[in-house]
Amino acid sequence: MAVTDPAPVALPAPHDGATREAAACDSAVHEGILRRQGARESAARTYARSLPIVPVRARGLTIEGADGRRYLDCLSGAGTLALGHNHPVVLEAIRKVLDSGAPLHVLDLATPVKDAFTTELFRTLPPALADRARIQFCGPAGTDAVEAALKLVRTATGRSGLLAFTGAYHGMTAGALEASGGAQDVRVTRLPYPQDYRCPFGIGGPRGAELAARWTTSLLDDTKSGVPRPAGMILEPVQGEGGVIPAPDAWLRRMRSITEQRSIPLIADEVQTGVGRTGAFWAVDHSGVVPDVMVLSKAVGGSLPLAVVVYHEDLDVWSPGAHAGTFRGNQLAMAAGAATLAYVRENQLDRRAAELGTRIIGQLRQLAKEFACIGDVRGRGLMIGVELVDPAQTAAAPFAVGSDSLSDDPLLGDCAAPPLPAAPALAAAVRDACLDRGLIVELGGRHSSVVRLLPPLTLTDEQATAVVDRLTDALAAVAEAHGR
Ligand code: PMP
Repeated sequence: MAVTDPAPVALPAPHDGATREAAACDSAVHEGILRRQGARESAARTYARSLPIVPVRARGLTIEGADGRRYLDCLSGAGTLALGHNHPVVLEAIRKVLDSGAPLHVLDLATPVKDAFTTELFRTLPPALADRARIQFCGPAGTDAVEAALKLVRTATGRSGLLAFTGAYHGMTAGALEASGGAQDVRVTRLPYPQDYRCPFGIGGPRGAELAARWTTSLLDDTKSGVPRPAGMILEPVQGEGGVIPAPDAWLRRMRSITEQRSIPLIADEVQTGVGRTGAFWAVDHSGVVPDVMVLSKAVGGSLPLAVVVYHEDLDVWSPGAHAGTFRGNQLAMAAGAATLAYVRENQLDRRAAELGTRIIGQLRQLAKEFACIGDVRGRGLMIGVELVDPAQTAAAPFAVGSDSLSDDPLLGDCAAPPLPAAPALAAAVRDACLDRGLIVELGGRHSSVVRLLPPLTLTDEQATAVVDRLTDALAAVAEAHGR
Protein backbone atom coordinates (compact mmCIF):
# COMPACT_ATOMS: atom_id res chain seq x y z
CA MET A 1 0.00 0.00 0.00
CA ALA A 2 1.34 3.38 -0.96
CA VAL A 3 1.37 5.38 2.21
CA THR A 4 4.43 7.51 2.42
CA ASP A 5 5.70 9.39 5.36
CA PRO A 6 6.27 12.92 4.07
CA ALA A 7 9.87 12.96 5.22
CA PRO A 8 10.88 9.79 7.03
CA VAL A 9 14.15 11.15 8.29
CA ALA A 10 14.88 14.54 6.75
CA LEU A 11 13.28 17.44 8.54
CA PRO A 12 12.14 20.46 6.57
CA ALA A 13 14.60 23.31 6.14
CA PRO A 14 14.02 26.10 8.64
CA HIS A 15 11.91 28.81 7.05
CA ASP A 16 12.15 31.71 9.41
CA GLY A 17 14.53 33.36 11.78
CA ALA A 18 13.06 31.68 14.85
CA THR A 19 13.40 28.13 13.55
CA ARG A 20 16.87 28.88 12.15
CA GLU A 21 17.88 30.04 15.54
CA ALA A 22 16.34 26.96 17.15
CA ALA A 23 18.20 24.72 14.72
CA ALA A 24 21.43 26.43 15.65
CA CYS A 25 20.92 25.82 19.36
CA ASP A 26 23.89 24.02 20.80
CA SER A 27 24.02 21.62 23.66
CA ALA A 28 24.64 24.45 26.14
CA VAL A 29 21.26 25.94 25.23
CA HIS A 30 19.68 22.49 25.45
CA GLU A 31 21.20 21.93 28.89
CA GLY A 32 20.13 25.39 30.02
CA ILE A 33 16.50 24.78 29.06
CA LEU A 34 16.47 21.43 30.84
CA ARG A 35 18.11 22.94 33.91
CA ARG A 36 15.53 25.73 34.07
CA GLN A 37 12.72 23.23 33.58
CA GLY A 38 14.04 21.16 36.48
CA ALA A 39 14.22 24.26 38.66
CA ARG A 40 10.85 25.75 37.73
CA GLU A 41 8.40 23.00 36.82
CA SER A 42 6.32 20.86 39.10
CA ALA A 43 7.54 17.78 40.92
CA ALA A 44 4.52 16.10 39.30
CA ARG A 45 5.93 16.44 35.78
CA THR A 46 5.98 13.11 34.03
CA TYR A 47 7.43 12.37 30.59
CA ALA A 48 9.94 15.18 30.99
CA ARG A 49 11.69 13.22 33.71
CA SER A 50 12.47 10.18 31.61
CA LEU A 51 12.94 11.99 28.29
CA PRO A 52 15.45 14.78 28.86
CA ILE A 53 15.19 16.21 25.36
CA VAL A 54 14.18 19.63 24.07
CA PRO A 55 12.20 19.13 20.85
CA VAL A 56 12.48 22.02 18.41
CA ARG A 57 11.33 20.53 15.13
CA ALA A 58 9.50 17.42 14.08
CA ARG A 59 8.16 15.68 11.02
CA GLY A 60 6.53 12.28 10.70
CA LEU A 61 8.28 9.86 13.04
CA THR A 62 11.25 12.13 13.64
CA ILE A 63 11.86 14.69 16.36
CA GLU A 64 14.91 16.94 16.42
CA GLY A 65 16.20 18.20 19.76
CA ALA A 66 17.73 21.60 20.48
CA ASP A 67 21.10 19.87 20.63
CA GLY A 68 20.67 18.72 17.03
CA ARG A 69 20.07 15.07 17.94
CA ARG A 70 17.32 13.20 16.11
CA TYR A 71 14.97 10.65 17.54
CA LEU A 72 12.43 8.19 16.18
CA ASP A 73 9.34 9.02 18.20
CA CYS A 74 7.40 5.91 19.20
CA LEU A 75 5.56 7.72 21.96
CA SER A 76 3.66 9.93 19.48
CA GLY A 77 2.34 12.35 22.09
CA ALA A 78 1.03 9.39 24.15
CA GLY A 79 -0.70 7.94 21.11
CA THR A 80 -2.09 11.23 19.86
CA LEU A 81 -0.26 11.51 16.55
CA ALA A 82 -1.94 9.03 14.22
CA LEU A 83 -0.19 10.67 11.26
CA GLY A 84 3.04 11.54 13.04
CA HIS A 85 4.30 15.04 13.60
CA ASN A 86 3.26 17.89 11.30
CA HIS A 87 1.68 15.77 8.60
CA PRO A 88 1.00 17.92 5.50
CA VAL A 89 -2.76 17.25 5.50
CA VAL A 90 -2.97 18.35 9.12
CA LEU A 91 -0.90 21.48 8.51
CA GLU A 92 -2.97 22.32 5.44
CA ALA A 93 -6.23 21.95 7.37
CA ILE A 94 -4.92 24.23 10.12
CA ARG A 95 -3.65 26.83 7.64
CA LYS A 96 -6.99 26.81 5.81
CA VAL A 97 -8.82 27.79 8.99
CA LEU A 98 -6.21 30.43 9.84
CA ASP A 99 -6.36 31.93 6.34
CA SER A 100 -10.17 31.94 6.29
CA GLY A 101 -10.46 34.47 9.09
CA ALA A 102 -12.76 32.13 11.02
CA PRO A 103 -12.89 32.64 14.79
CA LEU A 104 -10.54 30.23 16.53
CA HIS A 105 -12.56 29.77 19.67
CA VAL A 106 -16.34 29.83 19.82
CA LEU A 107 -17.45 27.90 22.92
CA ASP A 108 -19.85 25.24 21.63
CA LEU A 109 -21.44 27.30 18.84
CA ALA A 110 -22.10 25.77 15.43
CA THR A 111 -19.47 26.43 12.76
CA PRO A 112 -18.73 24.96 9.33
CA VAL A 113 -15.49 23.50 10.72
CA LYS A 114 -17.31 21.76 13.56
CA ASP A 115 -20.03 20.57 11.21
CA ALA A 116 -17.41 19.01 8.91
CA PHE A 117 -15.64 17.35 11.86
CA THR A 118 -18.87 15.82 13.18
CA THR A 119 -19.85 14.59 9.72
CA GLU A 120 -16.47 12.93 9.23
CA LEU A 121 -16.49 11.42 12.73
CA PHE A 122 -20.00 9.99 12.36
CA ARG A 123 -18.97 8.48 9.05
CA THR A 124 -16.39 6.33 10.83
CA LEU A 125 -18.52 5.16 13.77
CA PRO A 126 -20.12 1.72 13.91
CA PRO A 127 -23.21 2.33 11.70
CA ALA A 128 -25.66 1.08 14.35
CA LEU A 129 -24.39 3.83 16.66
CA ALA A 130 -23.83 6.51 14.00
CA ASP A 131 -27.44 6.27 12.82
CA ARG A 132 -28.72 7.30 16.22
CA ALA A 133 -25.74 9.09 17.75
CA ARG A 134 -25.45 12.34 19.64
CA ILE A 135 -22.15 14.07 20.30
CA GLN A 136 -21.08 16.18 23.25
CA PHE A 137 -17.97 18.32 22.80
CA CYS A 138 -16.05 18.27 26.05
CA GLY A 139 -13.17 20.11 27.66
CA PRO A 140 -10.19 19.15 25.54
CA ALA A 141 -8.81 16.19 27.52
CA GLY A 142 -9.76 12.55 27.48
CA THR A 143 -10.43 12.66 31.18
CA ASP A 144 -13.12 15.33 30.75
CA ALA A 145 -14.90 13.21 28.15
CA VAL A 146 -14.76 10.28 30.59
CA GLU A 147 -16.36 12.50 33.25
CA ALA A 148 -19.04 13.46 30.73
CA ALA A 149 -19.72 9.80 29.87
CA LEU A 150 -20.11 8.86 33.53
CA LYS A 151 -22.40 11.81 34.15
CA LEU A 152 -24.43 10.92 31.06
CA VAL A 153 -25.13 7.32 32.09
CA ARG A 154 -25.78 8.27 35.71
CA THR A 155 -28.33 10.83 34.60
CA ALA A 156 -29.97 8.49 32.12
CA THR A 157 -30.21 5.51 34.48
CA GLY A 158 -30.74 7.33 37.76
CA ARG A 159 -28.11 5.00 39.23
CA SER A 160 -24.66 5.90 40.48
CA GLY A 161 -22.51 2.76 40.69
CA LEU A 162 -20.04 1.88 38.01
CA LEU A 163 -18.38 -1.28 36.76
CA ALA A 164 -14.73 -0.83 35.85
CA PHE A 165 -11.75 -3.10 35.46
CA THR A 166 -8.47 -3.97 37.08
CA GLY A 167 -5.62 -2.16 35.37
CA ALA A 168 -7.93 0.44 33.79
CA TYR A 169 -6.81 4.00 33.10
CA HIS A 170 -9.40 6.63 32.28
CA GLY A 171 -7.79 9.91 33.32
CA MET A 172 -6.85 12.13 36.20
CA THR A 173 -9.96 14.10 37.22
CA ALA A 174 -11.61 11.81 39.76
CA GLY A 175 -10.08 13.85 42.56
CA ALA A 176 -11.39 17.06 41.07
CA LEU A 177 -14.86 15.55 40.73
CA GLU A 178 -14.98 14.42 44.33
CA ALA A 179 -13.71 17.76 45.54
CA SER A 180 -16.43 19.68 43.71
CA GLY A 181 -19.70 20.78 45.32
CA GLY A 182 -22.51 18.36 44.52
CA ALA A 183 -20.09 15.48 44.11
CA GLN A 184 -21.76 12.17 43.45
CA ASP A 185 -21.25 9.12 45.56
CA VAL A 186 -18.75 7.38 43.32
CA ARG A 187 -19.03 3.63 43.75
CA VAL A 188 -16.86 1.57 41.53
CA THR A 189 -16.95 -2.20 41.43
CA ARG A 190 -13.65 -3.53 40.15
CA LEU A 191 -13.89 -6.50 37.79
CA PRO A 192 -11.06 -8.69 36.46
CA TYR A 193 -9.84 -7.64 33.02
CA PRO A 194 -8.88 -10.74 31.04
CA GLN A 195 -5.21 -11.22 30.38
CA ASP A 196 -3.07 -14.14 29.37
CA TYR A 197 0.35 -13.43 30.81
CA ARG A 198 -0.64 -12.45 34.34
CA CYS A 199 -4.11 -13.99 34.38
CA PRO A 200 -5.58 -13.55 37.87
CA PHE A 201 -6.95 -17.11 37.59
CA GLY A 202 -3.61 -18.49 36.47
CA ILE A 203 -4.88 -19.99 33.21
CA GLY A 204 -5.15 -17.18 30.65
CA GLY A 205 -6.60 -17.75 27.17
CA PRO A 206 -10.33 -18.18 26.50
CA ARG A 207 -10.86 -20.05 29.79
CA GLY A 208 -9.35 -17.21 31.81
CA ALA A 209 -11.53 -14.70 29.94
CA GLU A 210 -14.60 -16.85 30.52
CA LEU A 211 -13.93 -16.97 34.27
CA ALA A 212 -13.60 -13.17 34.27
CA ALA A 213 -16.97 -12.93 32.48
CA ARG A 214 -18.61 -15.36 34.94
CA TRP A 215 -17.38 -13.32 37.88
CA THR A 216 -19.07 -10.30 36.27
CA THR A 217 -22.43 -12.03 35.85
CA SER A 218 -22.22 -13.52 39.31
CA LEU A 219 -21.72 -10.09 40.90
CA LEU A 220 -24.59 -8.62 38.92
CA ASP A 221 -27.06 -11.43 39.47
CA ASP A 222 -26.30 -12.45 43.06
CA THR A 223 -28.72 -10.37 45.10
CA LYS A 224 -26.29 -10.54 48.02
CA SER A 225 -23.14 -9.67 46.08
CA GLY A 226 -23.12 -6.19 47.56
CA VAL A 227 -23.06 -4.67 44.08
CA PRO A 228 -26.12 -2.55 43.35
CA ARG A 229 -27.28 -2.32 39.73
CA PRO A 230 -24.77 0.07 38.19
CA ALA A 231 -25.20 3.11 35.95
CA GLY A 232 -22.75 1.74 33.43
CA MET A 233 -19.73 -0.34 32.62
CA ILE A 234 -16.59 1.39 31.33
CA LEU A 235 -13.78 -0.49 29.61
CA GLU A 236 -10.82 -0.04 27.30
CA PRO A 237 -10.87 -2.53 24.38
CA VAL A 238 -7.08 -2.62 24.72
CA GLN A 239 -5.69 -1.43 28.02
CA GLY A 240 -2.91 1.02 27.23
CA GLU A 241 -1.49 2.44 30.43
CA GLY A 242 -2.38 -0.87 32.12
CA GLY A 243 0.37 -2.54 30.09
CA VAL A 244 -0.91 -2.97 26.51
CA ILE A 245 -3.43 -5.72 27.16
CA PRO A 246 -5.86 -6.46 24.34
CA ALA A 247 -9.23 -7.81 25.46
CA PRO A 248 -10.27 -10.92 23.54
CA ASP A 249 -13.07 -10.16 21.06
CA ALA A 250 -15.24 -12.95 22.49
CA TRP A 251 -14.92 -11.47 25.99
CA LEU A 252 -15.87 -8.02 24.69
CA ARG A 253 -18.95 -9.52 23.05
CA ARG A 254 -19.78 -11.20 26.39
CA MET A 255 -19.53 -7.83 28.15
CA ARG A 256 -21.86 -6.39 25.52
CA SER A 257 -24.46 -9.09 25.97
CA ILE A 258 -24.18 -9.09 29.78
CA THR A 259 -24.74 -5.31 29.90
CA GLU A 260 -27.42 -5.30 27.21
CA GLN A 261 -29.47 -8.01 28.92
CA ARG A 262 -29.39 -6.01 32.15
CA SER A 263 -29.96 -2.54 30.60
CA ILE A 264 -26.54 -1.33 31.72
CA PRO A 265 -24.98 1.19 29.29
CA LEU A 266 -21.61 0.06 27.97
CA ILE A 267 -18.99 2.80 27.66
CA ALA A 268 -15.99 2.08 25.42
CA ASP A 269 -13.06 4.31 26.31
CA GLU A 270 -11.36 4.61 22.93
CA VAL A 271 -9.26 7.61 23.90
CA GLN A 272 -6.06 5.72 23.11
CA THR A 273 -7.27 2.88 20.87
CA GLY A 274 -9.21 4.98 18.37
CA VAL A 275 -8.52 6.18 14.83
CA GLY A 276 -6.86 3.06 13.43
CA ARG A 277 -4.36 2.53 16.24
CA THR A 278 -5.25 -1.14 16.92
CA GLY A 279 -5.71 -2.19 13.30
CA ALA A 280 -9.40 -1.33 13.03
CA PHE A 281 -10.78 2.20 12.85
CA TRP A 282 -12.21 1.80 16.37
CA ALA A 283 -10.96 -1.05 18.51
CA VAL A 284 -14.55 -2.21 19.14
CA ASP A 285 -14.83 -2.88 15.40
CA HIS A 286 -12.66 -6.00 15.78
CA SER A 287 -15.41 -7.68 17.80
CA GLY A 288 -18.40 -6.08 16.10
CA VAL A 289 -19.50 -4.73 19.49
CA VAL A 290 -21.58 -1.55 19.37
CA PRO A 291 -21.22 0.31 22.67
CA ASP A 292 -23.83 2.74 23.95
CA VAL A 293 -21.18 5.37 24.60
CA MET A 294 -17.74 6.00 23.10
CA VAL A 295 -15.19 8.29 24.70
CA LEU A 296 -12.82 9.78 22.14
CA SER A 297 -9.80 12.05 22.40
CA LYS A 298 -6.06 12.00 21.51
CA ALA A 299 -5.94 11.23 17.75
CA VAL A 300 -9.42 12.65 17.03
CA GLY A 301 -7.87 16.12 17.39
CA GLY A 302 -5.17 15.39 14.82
CA SER A 303 -2.44 16.43 17.33
CA LEU A 304 -4.39 19.29 18.89
CA PRO A 305 -6.54 19.08 22.06
CA LEU A 306 -10.04 17.75 21.46
CA ALA A 307 -12.30 15.34 23.32
CA VAL A 308 -15.83 14.20 22.66
CA VAL A 309 -18.30 11.66 23.86
CA VAL A 310 -20.64 10.06 21.33
CA TYR A 311 -23.61 8.07 22.54
CA HIS A 312 -26.97 6.59 21.69
CA GLU A 313 -29.70 9.22 21.49
CA ASP A 314 -31.83 7.39 24.06
CA LEU A 315 -29.29 8.42 26.71
CA ASP A 316 -29.60 12.08 25.77
CA VAL A 317 -31.75 13.09 28.70
CA TRP A 318 -29.36 15.32 30.61
CA SER A 319 -30.10 19.02 30.95
CA PRO A 320 -28.62 21.97 29.05
CA GLY A 321 -25.32 22.83 30.71
CA ALA A 322 -25.04 19.39 32.38
CA HIS A 323 -21.49 19.16 31.09
CA ALA A 324 -20.27 22.65 30.27
CA GLY A 325 -16.77 24.06 29.88
CA THR A 326 -15.18 27.05 28.20
CA PHE A 327 -12.76 25.38 25.83
CA ARG A 328 -15.03 23.10 23.83
CA GLY A 329 -14.81 24.86 20.50
CA ASN A 330 -11.19 24.64 19.33
CA GLN A 331 -11.59 25.16 15.60
CA LEU A 332 -8.00 24.31 14.74
CA ALA A 333 -8.29 20.98 16.56
CA MET A 334 -11.56 20.17 14.80
CA ALA A 335 -10.04 20.95 11.41
CA ALA A 336 -6.88 18.94 12.20
CA GLY A 337 -9.04 16.13 13.57
CA ALA A 338 -11.35 15.98 10.56
CA ALA A 339 -8.33 15.90 8.22
CA THR A 340 -6.76 13.08 10.25
CA LEU A 341 -9.93 11.00 10.40
CA ALA A 342 -10.44 11.38 6.64
CA TYR A 343 -6.81 10.55 5.85
CA VAL A 344 -6.84 7.40 7.98
CA ARG A 345 -10.15 6.30 6.44
CA GLU A 346 -9.21 7.07 2.82
CA ASN A 347 -5.78 5.47 3.06
CA GLN A 348 -6.96 2.53 5.17
CA LEU A 349 -4.25 3.20 7.69
CA ASP A 350 -6.07 0.94 10.14
CA ARG A 351 -5.28 -2.02 7.88
CA ARG A 352 -1.74 -0.83 7.50
CA ALA A 353 -1.45 -0.66 11.31
CA ALA A 354 -2.76 -4.23 11.56
CA GLU A 355 -0.21 -5.55 9.03
CA LEU A 356 2.72 -3.67 10.45
CA GLY A 357 1.76 -4.48 14.03
CA THR A 358 1.61 -8.21 13.28
CA ARG A 359 5.05 -8.01 11.69
CA ILE A 360 6.65 -6.03 14.51
CA ILE A 361 5.07 -8.19 17.22
CA GLY A 362 6.34 -11.30 15.38
CA GLN A 363 9.87 -9.89 15.25
CA LEU A 364 9.79 -8.96 18.91
CA ARG A 365 8.50 -12.43 19.85
CA GLN A 366 11.50 -13.93 18.04
CA LEU A 367 13.67 -11.66 20.14
CA ALA A 368 11.97 -12.89 23.31
CA LYS A 369 13.42 -16.32 22.57
CA GLU A 370 16.90 -14.84 22.79
CA PHE A 371 16.48 -12.71 25.91
CA ALA A 372 15.23 -14.27 29.11
CA CYS A 373 14.37 -10.80 30.42
CA ILE A 374 11.55 -10.45 27.87
CA GLY A 375 8.60 -12.04 29.63
CA ASP A 376 5.89 -11.23 27.12
CA VAL A 377 5.33 -9.40 23.84
CA ARG A 378 1.76 -8.39 23.12
CA GLY A 379 -0.40 -5.82 21.45
CA ARG A 380 -2.82 -5.10 18.68
CA GLY A 381 -2.01 -3.07 15.59
CA LEU A 382 0.48 -0.36 16.42
CA MET A 383 -0.16 -0.51 20.16
CA ILE A 384 2.65 -2.80 21.24
CA GLY A 385 4.16 -3.75 24.60
CA VAL A 386 7.24 -5.67 25.68
CA GLU A 387 7.08 -6.78 29.32
CA LEU A 388 10.41 -7.03 31.10
CA VAL A 389 10.83 -9.65 33.81
CA ASP A 390 13.64 -10.65 36.07
CA PRO A 391 14.88 -14.15 35.24
CA ALA A 392 17.16 -14.08 38.28
CA GLN A 393 14.08 -14.23 40.51
CA THR A 394 11.84 -17.26 40.92
CA ALA A 395 8.37 -17.31 39.40
CA ALA A 396 5.89 -15.41 41.48
CA ALA A 397 2.21 -14.88 42.11
CA PRO A 398 0.64 -13.08 39.14
CA PHE A 399 1.33 -9.50 40.18
CA ALA A 400 4.15 -9.79 42.66
CA VAL A 401 7.29 -7.78 42.00
CA GLY A 402 9.30 -9.83 44.43
CA SER A 403 9.25 -13.60 44.67
CA ASP A 404 6.32 -15.24 46.39
CA SER A 405 5.90 -18.51 44.60
CA LEU A 406 2.65 -20.46 44.80
CA SER A 407 3.64 -22.86 42.07
CA ASP A 408 4.17 -25.79 44.43
CA ASP A 409 0.62 -25.65 45.78
CA PRO A 410 -1.09 -28.89 44.64
CA LEU A 411 -4.45 -27.10 44.47
CA LEU A 412 -3.07 -25.03 41.61
CA GLY A 413 -2.16 -28.01 39.44
CA ASP A 414 -4.50 -26.80 36.69
CA CYS A 415 -2.79 -23.45 36.46
CA ALA A 416 -0.02 -22.43 34.12
CA ALA A 417 3.39 -21.76 35.67
CA PRO A 418 3.28 -18.25 37.09
CA PRO A 419 5.23 -15.65 35.15
CA LEU A 420 8.50 -14.26 36.41
CA PRO A 421 8.32 -11.11 38.54
CA ALA A 422 8.04 -7.80 36.70
CA ALA A 423 11.31 -5.92 36.29
CA PRO A 424 10.65 -2.17 36.36
CA ALA A 425 14.36 -1.32 36.74
CA LEU A 426 15.23 -3.32 33.62
CA ALA A 427 12.38 -1.69 31.71
CA ALA A 428 13.63 1.77 32.72
CA ALA A 429 17.13 0.78 31.64
CA VAL A 430 15.76 -0.33 28.24
CA ARG A 431 13.89 2.96 27.83
CA ASP A 432 17.08 4.90 28.62
CA ALA A 433 19.14 2.72 26.29
CA CYS A 434 16.58 3.34 23.54
CA LEU A 435 16.89 7.10 24.06
CA ASP A 436 20.68 6.81 23.81
CA ARG A 437 20.12 5.12 20.44
CA GLY A 438 17.72 7.80 19.23
CA LEU A 439 14.45 5.97 19.94
CA ILE A 440 11.71 7.43 22.12
CA VAL A 441 9.59 4.87 23.98
CA GLU A 442 7.69 5.02 27.26
CA LEU A 443 6.82 2.57 29.99
CA GLY A 444 3.44 1.36 31.16
CA GLY A 445 1.86 -1.51 32.98
CA ARG A 446 1.10 -2.29 36.59
CA HIS A 447 4.74 -2.05 37.60
CA SER A 448 6.02 0.24 34.84
CA SER A 449 7.73 -2.83 33.44
CA VAL A 450 6.23 -2.72 29.95
CA VAL A 451 8.12 -0.91 27.18
CA ARG A 452 5.43 0.60 24.99
CA LEU A 453 5.50 1.40 21.29
CA LEU A 454 2.87 3.74 19.81
CA PRO A 455 4.39 4.74 16.47
CA PRO A 456 2.39 6.78 13.96
CA LEU A 457 0.23 4.81 11.51
CA THR A 458 2.24 6.36 8.68
CA LEU A 459 5.31 4.36 9.73
CA THR A 460 7.13 3.07 6.65
CA ASP A 461 8.62 -0.42 6.39
CA GLU A 462 12.12 1.04 6.64
CA GLN A 463 11.21 3.03 9.72
CA ALA A 464 9.67 -0.05 11.32
CA THR A 465 12.92 -1.90 10.73
CA ALA A 466 14.92 0.97 12.24
CA VAL A 467 12.66 1.00 15.32
CA VAL A 468 12.99 -2.76 15.86
CA ASP A 469 16.77 -2.60 15.28
CA ARG A 470 17.25 0.15 17.85
CA LEU A 471 15.01 -1.59 20.38
CA THR A 472 16.87 -4.87 19.83
CA ASP A 473 20.19 -3.16 20.33
CA ALA A 474 18.95 -1.49 23.51
CA LEU A 475 17.58 -4.77 24.88
CA ALA A 476 20.82 -6.56 24.09
CA ALA A 477 22.87 -3.89 25.84
CA VAL A 478 20.67 -3.98 28.96
CA ALA A 479 20.53 -7.79 29.04
CA GLU A 480 24.31 -7.95 28.82
CA ALA A 481 24.87 -5.25 31.44
CA HIS A 482 22.52 -7.02 33.87
CA GLY A 483 23.60 -10.55 33.00
CA ARG A 484 20.06 -11.40 31.83
N1 PMP B 1 -8.60 7.09 28.71
C1 PMP B 1 -7.58 6.38 28.23
C2 PMP B 1 -7.82 4.99 27.73
C3 PMP B 1 -6.30 6.94 28.16
O1 PMP B 1 -5.28 6.21 27.69
C4 PMP B 1 -6.12 8.26 28.62
C5 PMP B 1 -4.76 8.93 28.58
N2 PMP B 1 -3.67 8.15 28.48
C6 PMP B 1 -7.22 8.95 29.14
C7 PMP B 1 -8.45 8.34 29.15
C8 PMP B 1 -7.08 10.35 29.67
O2 PMP B 1 -6.83 11.23 28.63
P1 PMP B 1 -6.16 12.65 28.97
O3 PMP B 1 -4.76 12.37 29.43
O4 PMP B 1 -6.22 13.41 27.69
O5 PMP B 1 -6.99 13.26 30.04
